[in-house]
Amino acid sequence: MAYSKEIFETAQEIITARRSRAERDAQHRRKAFGLEEPRYPDLQNEIIRSTRDLMRTIGQGEKAKEIIEQSRVKHRTLTRSIADLLAEHGYPEDYLEVHPTCPICQDYGFVETRYCECFTNLLKKLTFDEAAKRTPLQCSRFADFSLHYYTDEQREHMQGIFDYCKGYADTFDRDSYSLLFYGETGLGKTHLSLSIAGELISKGWYVMYDSTQSIMNQLEREHFGKGTGDDYEKLLLECDLLIMDDLGTEFSTQFTLAEFYNILNSRLLSNRPTIISTNLDLKGIENKYTKRIASRIVGEYELLHFVGNDIRQQKKEEE
Ligand SMILES: [Zn+2]
Repeated sequence: MAYSKEIFETAQEIITARRSRAERDAQHRRKAFGLEEPRYPDLQNEIIRSTRDLMRTIGQGEKAKEIIEQSRVKHRTLTRSIADLLAEHGYPEDYLEVHPTCPICQDYGFVETRYCECFTNLLKKLTFDEAAKRTPLQCSRFADFSLHYYTDEQREHMQGIFDYCKGYADTFDRDSYSLLFYGETGLGKTHLSLSIAGELISKGWYVMYDSTQSIMNQLEREHFGKGTGDDYEKLLLECDLLIMDDLGTEFSTQFTLAEFYNILNSRLLSNRPTIISTNLDLKGIENKYTKRIASRIVGEYELLHFVGNDIRQQKKEEE
């Protein structure tokens, strides 16, 4: 799985901050406990001293063995005494230790040479947040999708689309179909594509979601050297699922046409599913993007026609 550089760096910052906070908190507890129980700093100093003695034995061969053993016994006695003091004051035995958010990796983000689960979960969460930030529907989940706003006939049709999308998310794989969500504005296309995104991200798939306009802007910046050189295009071509929202509303140029065809074609050839949502109908796609592009979509994509009356408008009227 590939994540964008920003997401990766943010995740590392968060993990480092967690570790620092846990260490700081432990230091505060030690300091406060020292004020509460004056015998504690003395014991603590002795531990530090005995550790220092132990360091000095390095390179002293046979002689060191004895010192190490003595020091180990001493260390055990001192730790026991501190535990007793803590108990006297009603604190648990590990009260003065560092309490990391993740006990598996101690907030380092990795265990041996592998990323810890806490780190990969954080990457998934940040990716989802990033996707959710770009849309007015903050919490698009399947559970929030309402069929309340449709006529009986529309409802039956949309129930079919809903079930299809739910099934798609449940069984998603590299050989899943690419989908075209088409139909007028406000019929739940973004909601369902984000619902799919959310489910897949929580399962660890790498999903990229953005409006087509924003995708094209970023490609343009990268292509014409105004960006950070982040290889955004590579991510677009290689992510497990790419969702291009609102196709047709972007300003189109020769560059965007070529890029769109490239994304479409490369992802089909490398068996990577894409979901495109658009307010255009099939004829509209042909007019705006050429026959070649339209026939690639019609031939290779599963076409889902969204019907109904603008949900956002109806919700507004009910308020
Ligand atoms: Zn961890």
